[in-house]
Amino acid sequence: MKNAGKLLKKAAEFHGHTCPGLAIGVRVASYVMEEFFPLRSSDEELVAVVENNSCAVDAVQALLGCTFGKGNLVHKDYGKQVYTFFKRGNTGKTAGAIRIAVNWKAPEETPAQKEMWRRFSAGDRSPAVLKSVHKRKSEKIKSLMEADAGDIFDIKIFRGNPPCEARIFQSVKCDKCGEKTMETRIRLAGGRQLCPPCFEREMQCRR
Ligand SMILES: [Zn+2]
Ligand SMILES: [Zn+2]
Repeated sequence: MKNAGKLLKKAAEFHGHTCPGLAIGVRVASYVMEEFFPLRSSDEELVAVVENNSCAVDAVQALLGCTFGKGNLVHKDYGKQVYTFFKRGNTGKTAGAIRIAVNWKAPEETPAQKEMWRRFSAGDRSPAVLKSVHKRKSEKIKSLMEADAGDIFDIKIFRGNPPCEARIFQSVKCDKCGEKTMETRIRLAGGRQLCPPCFEREMQCRR
């Protein structure tokens, strides 16, 4: 993997710390940059569909520019370490897609490390426990960063269309709080157009 340390540092600046989850995301992002989407061209866009909301996703955002706000990061709440990337051409049609399933196994824990982790989980924050937990974390990160992509990923060509592009909707004033709300989020209650929180409050009061 090229520029491993540099990429991990850049992702950590965005994420706030370095952890094994972030390292997974760095490996996914670097694979995409090296094998799938090497150039950021203006008329072709990269779209990521991520099947979890773990630390790894922050590396995808920081390194690949697939972000929540731009609408080219789509979260599916499946709790799976699976990442699908689409090249979206200017026609909106897909120009290729890959699906990366992470199947990395952490290096075997020693009985001493297991015991230290048990103590950590029970709230023990003594120096010996913290040292062991920190060392274990570093081992995991090292294992992830040094592994061959073929040993930690199951990579397939994905056939299917990318998610639709983010659409822009009208705003409607909520009849209760007066705040503007995207029209697709407005709810009706007794003929009044309400934003979601006002609608929820309205429903609670009637119970
Ligand atoms: Zn993290
Ligand atoms: Zn409201």
